[in-house]
Formats: sequence, structure tokens, C-alpha cells
Amino acid sequence: MNNHGLSNQQANLYVFFISFLGCSLFLLLGNLTFSYSSIEWVLIISLIGVNVMSRRFSILIPPQGNALTMDSTIYLASIFIFGLELTLTILLLNNIIVAFYQSKTAWWKHVFNFSSFTLMIVISYFMFTITGGEIGLISFGDTLSYLLTMITYMLLNIFTIGVFFWLLSTDPLFKIIKGFVAESIFTYLSILVLSLILGILLIHQPVIGIVLFTTVILMLSLAFKHHFTLYEQAAKKANRDDLTGLYNHGYFKEVFIDFVKMKNSQPFSLAVIDIDDFKKYNDFHGHLQGDELLKFFGSLLQEGCSPYNYTYARYGGEEFVILMPDTKGQQAFEFLNGLRKTMNDTYFKGVEILPQGCLSFSGGVVSHEGSVYNTSQLLDQADQAMYYAKAQGKNNVHLYDEEDVVQKNLDEEKEIELLEQQVRIFLSKDVYTYKHSKRVFKYAVNFAKKLELNEHESKVLIMGALIHDIGKLEIPRDIINKKGKLEPHEWEMMKKHVTWGKEIVSTNKGLTHLLPLVELHHERYDGKGYPHGLKGEEIPKLARILCIIDSFDAMTTERPYQATKTFEQAIEELRRCAGQQFDAKYVPAFIEMIEESIYFEVAATTE
Ligand code: GH3
Ligand code: MG
Ligand code: MG
Repeated sequence: MNNHGLSNQQANLYVFFISFLGCSLFLLLGNLTFSYSSIEWVLIISLIGVNVMSRRFSILIPPQGNALTMDSTIYLASIFIFGLELTLTILLLNNIIVAFYQSKTAWWKHVFNFSSFTLMIVISYFMFTITGGEIGLISFGDTLSYLLTMITYMLLNIFTIGVFFWLLSTDPLFKIIKGFVAESIFTYLSILVLSLILGILLIHQPVIGIVLFTTVILMLSLAFKHHFTLYEQAAKKANRDDLTGLYNHGYFKEVFIDFVKMKNSQPFSLAVIDIDDFKKYNDFHGHLQGDELLKFFGSLLQEGCSPYNYTYARYGGEEFVILMPDTKGQQAFEFLNGLRKTMNDTYFKGVEILPQGCLSFSGGVVSHEGSVYNTSQLLDQADQAMYYAKAQGKNNVHLYDEEDVVQKNLDEEKEIELLEQQVRIFLSKDVYTYKHSKRVFKYAVNFAKKLELNEHESKVLIMGALIHDIGKLEIPRDIINKKGKLEPHEWEMMKKHVTWGKEIVSTNKGLTHLLPLVELHHERYDGKGYPHGLKGEEIPKLARILCIIDSFDAMTTERPYQATKTFEQAIEELRRCAGQQFDAKYVPAFIEMIEESIYFEVAATTE
């Protein structure tokens, strides 16, 4: 709070500073007597007229609908043709008119706007004259001056506004400015070209020129408006589900991923709901009537969610999802249960034939706090909780609990046996990886005990250790069994095993909790690992732990044509790389464990 107050204060000071500077410059350099010839007045008024028109009919540019207004085009053309004083007069009169028809905008914003344009115009004007630009004509020889003037104008514009946003936000200034430049570079280029065209018209045919120029702007504006509307319609349609009108699966995922990126540490909940016995309704009343029920269900969902800032979507057939920002598990559970009761109590034609005798759904909720590694894992957990709710007799809501669901749904021994079978495939192809996986598995069992990991984490580490190299199945035999040094392209392929492993493991829905270990066990604490170059705590804890075990075993494994480290040397290497390759938190415990059980482990490596 304190911080925010401070940055607000800084922003206020900044606005004051720019306003003071701009107004002073205007008083110093502007023509305060307004002594112009009648021809000049006609031109001034016409140009202001063009500007007012163009504000009314601004050109909207997809995707965000940024508007290309004519202010800057007119100011630049006026600098080139009439010089500083007249341009500042146009600016002043223009701002007075804008202040009239945007009277709801706070007065200080008008002053700030006027002042920053004054700054931009004055400095760009000096840039133009200093670089040899000649006032009153548009000449090919001055191309460099036009460009430099334009760049000055653009940078000042971006910078004055960028600093204001920077003072109010937590993003670095560089990032904000880079975003602005990327967004508006083409807009600025069109402004430059248009200002040169306008300049030429003003010199040769001021009256006809301004009329033609205005006409083109109006036409373009109408054409772009049409284009923009079409774009908006298409974008909207692509995001919606045809039947229910709710957001569709693809759009929801986009929103969810963006949300997770933006609000990394905020608590939120995610719910998956599935209509109970919908197939029976369909079979009894036909698909068309089934569609009607889906539409009705969608409208109830919308009604229920609309008081909150929830995002909801049709996820598939008769499945829906809700993303609830700022909502803890219990709160989400109560909301969903309320929605369920409302649906039970709302009659829809034909629902009496359903086993529950009413419209009902089963829902799973997962709540989350802290950074998210994998969005599909969360969806998966909500899904698991939903199936649990179904298993309890449907018309039910269940809150996902890591320990609980894992304990109930996972028969550990069977699961490990299954994984071992998968790893056994290596026996024929690559016996080293097979033996390595088994040893890493044994280390993981002991290390989990040593670190006193909780039951869930222990299981994930142990199972992940067994399966972590499964992606090597995809690597050709000649590379994987190559005796000498790998060529660079072979090494690149070798590195892909983490990504392939992730793909293989993700085909099994029950194993998604192992994905971080399979994909990220080659990430390094200092950010120099692969595949993503994650750093420090960005790497999930268990992947950091597995990295130590995996590396230790790789160092101490006997392979032909490859130097092997003794346990003592490998321990030394772990110490040396703690804090760089490895998370230093877990290295001492691992070394201690190895030292305690050194004879047992030596026996294991030579089996
Ligand atoms: P459960 O309570 O276990 O969820 O049973 P259920 O019958 O709801 O679930 P199941 O997955 O067996 O059947 C879902 C049905 O939803 C099957 C499919 O024909 C139907 N369905 C999926 N999409 C649509 C659709 O757009 N319109 C209609 N009318 N039916 C659909
Ligand atoms: Mg279903
Ligand atoms: Mg269903």
C-alpha cells in the first residue's frame, strides 16, 4: 500500500513537472498576440476542422482498436510548412475545442496532454531546423531531417506517456517503452507519410488539398470501421460455442493460461462440472431436445456466475468449467454447491425421467495459491475431483485434496510395477538407461526418507525417478549406444529426451503429476539448463532434487570409453556445483546420505 501511495505521488509530481515545462515553453515560444494574416487564419481553422472531423471518424486498427487520429499528422505537416509559432497556435486552439467536447475528462489531463504535445512539437521543430530542414517546402533532399524529426517526435511521445505508466506500475520502464514502440511503429510511419503528403498539398493547393485530404480520411475511416467490425465479429465467433453462446474450450484455455501468467501468486479456484446422466436424457427425448437442455444449462450457469468476476465456458459435450479468481477452495465449493441446488430446484421439460429426478451435475473444484507450473495439471485435478463426486452417487461437489485423492485413487505398488514395466523396455535397447533408472529410483527412495518428504511428495519423487528418462526411448540406437563423443546434432537430439518423455508420460492421465520431473530434471539452478532455462525456485522442488540424484549417478556410472568419478570425486563435484547446477539446499543432505550408505550404494552400482 505504502509503495503504491508513493508511486502515485511520484506520478502526480511528474504530471506537474511536464505541465509546468510545457506551459512555460508555450509562453516563451508561442505567438501570444495571434497576429496572423487572413490566409493563415483560413489555413489554421481548416486544419483544426480536419482534426475535429478525424476525431469524430478515427481509424480503428485491429486487434485492440488503437485509433489513428490526425493530430500528429497535422502538427508535423504544420512544422514542416509553417514553422513553430503557427503549429503551437493550432495546438492550443485544438486543445481548447477538445476540452469543450470532452468536458468530463479531468482538467489536469487536458493540461498534461497539451503540455506534452508542446514539448514534442518544440523539440521536434528544433530537430528539424538543426538538421537542415527547410521550412515552407517539402523537398526530397530533406528526407533525413523528416525522419529524424519524426523519430524525435515519436520517442518523446512514447517516453512522456511511458514514464507516467511506469510510475504507476511495477513493470520496468524499458519493457513498457518496448511495448509501446512495438504497438505503434506502423501507426507512426503512416503519420509521417501522411504529414508529408499533407505538407505538399498545403504548399500547392491548400484549399482543394485540405478538402481532398479530409475526404480520404473519412473514406478510410469508414472502410476501416467496417473492417474492424468484421474483425471483431470474427474474433467473437471464434471464441464462442455455437450452441450455448458461452466461451468455448480453446478460448477458455487461452484465458486460463494468461490468467496464470499475470496473477502468479494470487489464490484462485477452478471447477469442472459435468451434467449427470445426460446420455439418458438424450436417449429418451432425442438429441434436439438434449441441445435445448444444454442451452438451458448454459443460461443457468451464466446467471449463477454473473455477479462474480468468474470466467466460465463450455469445455466439451456436457462439461463446463469455471475459473474463479481471488477465491479460496471452501468459498468455491460453497458457490458450486449453491449452483447445484439452484439447478436441482429449476424445472426443465423432461428432467423427471432422470435418475436424480431433476437437473443435476457433479462438480470438482481445485484451489491453488502460488506459482503454477502446469495448467493442464490443475484441470486434471479438478477433473479427478469431479469423477470422485460422480463416484459418490452424482449430484455432488468434491473439493480436490492432494493427499486424499492420491491415496484413494492410486495403488502405489501397482503403479510402480507398471512404470517398471515401461522402463524394462530399455533392457533390449539401452541397458545403461535401464540400470541408471533403477539406481536413480533406489536413491530417490532413500533420499525421500532422508529429506522427510511428505507421503505425496515421496511418491512423486520415487515414481518420477523411475520414469524420468523414458523419453530416451525415442532416441535412435546408434546415438544412444555410441561409444565416442556425440556430434553436436546428436547431442541436440539427446537433449530432446525430456520433451519426448513429457509427451509419452502425458498420454497417461494418471501420471500427469510426474510431468515436471520428466520434463525438468535437466534444468539447472543457475538457469543454464534445458529445455526452458528455468532458474532457481521456478524449477519445481522435486525436479531440483531429482537433478542432484540423476547427475550423481551419471558421474559415478561405469561406461566404456568414459571417465568415471569415484564417489568421493562425485561428492566433491556436487559441492563445487552447489548453487550453480544444483540447488544448494539439498546437496548437503544428499552427500550425507551417500556417505552414510556408501557400501550399500557401491554394491548397487556394480550389480
Ligand atoms: P454421467 O452422469 O456419468 O456424466 O453420464 P452422462 O450420460 O452424462 O455421460 P456420458 O459421457 O456417458 O454421455 C454424455 C453424452 O452427452 C453423450 C453425448 O452424446 C452427449 N452429448 C455431447 N455433446 C452433445 C451435444 O452437443 N448435444 C447433445 N444433444 N448431446 C451431446
Ligand atoms: Mg461427460
Ligand atoms: Mg455427464
